[in-house]
Amino acid sequence: MENVKSKLLAKKRELEQVIARKKDDLMIPITESTDELSMYDQHPADVGSELYEREKDAGLLEMMELELQKLNDALNRYDKGQYGICSICGDPIEPKRLERLLNTTQCIQCARKTRDNFTRPAEEDITFSGAMSDRGETLEIAGYDFYDSDN
Ligand SMILES: [Zn+2]
Repeated sequence: MENVKSKLLAKKRELEQVIARKKDDLMIPITESTDELSMYDQHPADVGSELYEREKDAGLLEMMELELQKLNDALNRYDKGQYGICSICGDPIEPKRLERLLNTTQCIQCARKTRDNFTRPAEEDITFSGAMSDRGETLEIAGYDFYDSDN
């Protein structure tokens, strides 16, 4: 557990950088970011897909900001000595689970119990690392614990 905090901080820094880059991307007006040729021969489809890309990026950005918020929460909990402790039953969270979901606040048993109250996706936990790897960004962000509900 001793390097957990530096791991959390490293994730946080990575995430902040990616968010800043994404924000810069989204600031560029569409006409400047599209290929110069399309200025003369403008296919509506190109503009459409550009818009689509941006919407996707905006969605991704939202997800990343949520993730950043969760990392901050995790850091706060760490400082209070509550990191890695299940917020429901108070037991230590399984180290493997923490590896995968840096900011989870529930042990596997409690997470399962919680999710039994919901209609759930097939995967045990939703991670966004796949969605993050487009545009050459291979940052692996902490998994997003869909059922994390203590905030
Ligand atoms: Zn628990």
